[in-house]
Amino acid sequence: MELQQKKYQLEAIADSIKNREIDIEIAKTCTNPVPGEGNPNAEILFIGEAPGAQEDKQGRPFIGASGKFLDEMLKSIGLKRKDVFVTNIVKFRPPKNRDPKPSEIKACLPVLLEQISIIQPKLVVFLGRHAMNVFLPQLKISDAHGQELTETVEIAGYSITATFLPLYHPAAALYNGGMRKTLLEDFARIPKILELIK
Ligand code: URA
Repeated sequence: MELQQKKYQLEAIADSIKNREIDIEIAKTCTNPVPGEGNPNAEILFIGEAPGAQEDKQGRPFIGASGKFLDEMLKSIGLKRKDVFVTNIVKFRPPKNRDPKPSEIKACLPVLLEQISIIQPKLVVFLGRHAMNVFLPQLKISDAHGQELTETVEIAGYSITATFLPLYHPAAALYNGGMRKTLLEDFARIPKILELIK
């Protein structure tokens, strides 16, 4: 698909999310829906959990403390936000940052799968176990982090072929020195993984 067409289709999805066309309570209670953003031709797609307070205020993904850490990790491998695409499983902030409910994940899944189908990333990076378990429910983040898997995932009528890399969520690693180190090490493998799958 041409870049312009990808842009157009991603914008149409973002508009439907911004117009709160998904019929769940958090779509009504949030301040701003957060569709996700970045390069429509990105080789790497990052998928987080759900918007937090800052994201809800501004309608943009990963712009709070976790986002700063994500930017730092991107920089460590020579990338900027504009090189990648960043989104979440759930597009609306759950009140008080509670975990998204299975019904909320299910309701937001079609737009996420559409985003993936348009972007066609080579590498899908899961930021945290919630994102990972939507696609790879059998995995445990403590075992699976930092290890890429190339496979075709059949999900909600879509067939997604990509390399998947589960990582710890940046928020979990922010104030935990050991986890932070592990996340940085896992993240540092991304260039090598991209090289391998090209
Ligand atoms: N945490 C997430 O999972 N997503 C965001 O967009 C921000 C924080």
